[in-house]
Amino acid sequence: MIKADPFKKTPIAELAPDVRNKCFEEVVLGYTLDEAIAESQRCLDCKQQFCVAGCPVNVDIPGFIRHIKTGDIEKAYGVLTHDNALPAICGRVCPQESQCEGKCIRAKKGESVAIGRLERFTADYIEKNINFKTDKPERPAPIGIKAAVIGSGPAGLSCAVTLAKAGADVTIFEALHKIGGVLTYGIPEFRLPKSIVAKEQEKLEAYDVKIKTNTLIGKSYTLDQLKAQGFNRFFIGSGAGLPSFLGIEGENLMGVYSANEYLTRVNLMGAFKEDAITPIKHGKRVAVIGGGNVAMDAARTAKRLGAEEVTIVYRRSMNELPARLEEVHHAEEEGILFKTLHGPIEILGEKSAVAGLKCQMMRLSEKDASGRQRPVPIDDAYITVDCDTVIIAIGQTPNPLIPMTMKALDTTPKGCIVADDDTMETSVSGVYAGGDAVTGAATVIKAMGAGKQAAENMLKTL
Ligand SMILES: Cc1cc2nc3c(=O)[nH]c(=O)nc-3n(C[C@H](O)[C@H](O)[C@H](O)COP(=O)(O)OP(=O)(O)OC[C@H]3O[C@@H](n4cnc5c(N)ncnc54)[C@H](O)[C@@H]3O)c2cc1C
Repeated sequence: MIKADPFKKTPIAELAPDVRNKCFEEVVLGYTLDEAIAESQRCLDCKQQFCVAGCPVNVDIPGFIRHIKTGDIEKAYGVLTHDNALPAICGRVCPQESQCEGKCIRAKKGESVAIGRLERFTADYIEKNINFKTDKPERPAPIGIKAAVIGSGPAGLSCAVTLAKAGADVTIFEALHKIGGVLTYGIPEFRLPKSIVAKEQEKLEAYDVKIKTNTLIGKSYTLDQLKAQGFNRFFIGSGAGLPSFLGIEGENLMGVYSANEYLTRVNLMGAFKEDAITPIKHGKRVAVIGGGNVAMDAARTAKRLGAEEVTIVYRRSMNELPARLEEVHHAEEEGILFKTLHGPIEILGEKSAVAGLKCQMMRLSEKDASGRQRPVPIDDAYITVDCDTVIIAIGQTPNPLIPMTMKALDTTPKGCIVADDDTMETSVSGVYAGGDAVTGAATVIKAMGAGKQAAENMLKTL
């Protein structure tokens, strides 16, 4: 029997940094049953549940942990999946420190309860024994909804499952050849094994959801053409896959990638393999611009592809890095260097290829609209980061294709689709939207919550 430390999270097994930075195996190995039960004992089961309020989909956190305490993991899974369709994924990638765990009472005098680790444990423990191909759930009678779900990221997946569980006839249209959105093409295997996303596909198929991959809505079909095919409800969960660039000199040099392209080539197209049909440059010295999860993923991927030196270049300080704490910690352990308070101003070239990244040093000034201190350039203070590859990870915006082919769809000046906060319905009746396509680049759980909310509102229109 393991005894939990009241002030510290029960440790979790991880691959050693110098082993994992050479392979794509999952870094965090998960709790055993004993470890999970020990950690669950740290939950104080507070009357006022701040952790629940901190969760974007209001999972009954003390409720599921209560069942882990008694070893009834099946019941814990039932409570968890009542509000969260993707617990194995959220347990791995949610920014818990700024959500549920950030609100945990334990965090006032030590470390919070490891809610994310317990969520992941519960989902893995149960889902490894479910075979959605053979254990088909009971299907309700058809309810007269024929729904087209556009995009198979977390928003589309949760919308589709919620609708299908209620008896709707659902088809997912996905532009790429695999489902999952960022879960498949963005977040690397070492953080989120693709077998977990594949399980979601099995779940969809168990609910008779039809999946049409390689289908780009706006090109293959417009929404009006889908309407003519008999679809009577629509959900747009097309994400924010359009990478932003800096607009600085040298961005067209060979060896410059958007993080989106870099990660897609590796995760989706297998560019790390010797015989890949869309190979990628294996840079020796790689500079990654940005400080979010995308930057951490790109940097850690470059290291695994054999880079000798990978440097994250970020305009603000370590305190303002928007990435999950765990990712920053893992990146540091794996030998990624951080050049903070430096803003890139030019990518230097030699014979049309990257030869360095010129940066200006910055200092922090007063807080800006985001609540973070604004970086201000320091006059005449420049350095050059020695590199042969530059990966730009400074953000993504929604792709304009769907709004371009549906003029009645209102969008914001930043290209996000406008949807009602409560119903998720857009300016076009019967067309709902959610996830990054509406909010701009955000989080998995927010996208998942939006998909579910849209589905529930579609069902109310019956
Ligand atoms: C590299 C990376 C790492 C991240 N790490 C984290 C993390 O650790 N934690 C976290 O919470 N969030 C993370 N995020 C953010 C998170 O993944 C997104 O907020 C979330 O995936 C958004 O979900 P979505 O369903 O709205 O869109 P997406 O996941 O982007 O899915 C949209 C899908 O729609 C498809 N599509 C687009 N246009 C069309 C069309 N016209 N027709 C048909 N299909 C279309 C796309 O191919 C895609 O599959 C990360 C993002 C990236 C890029």
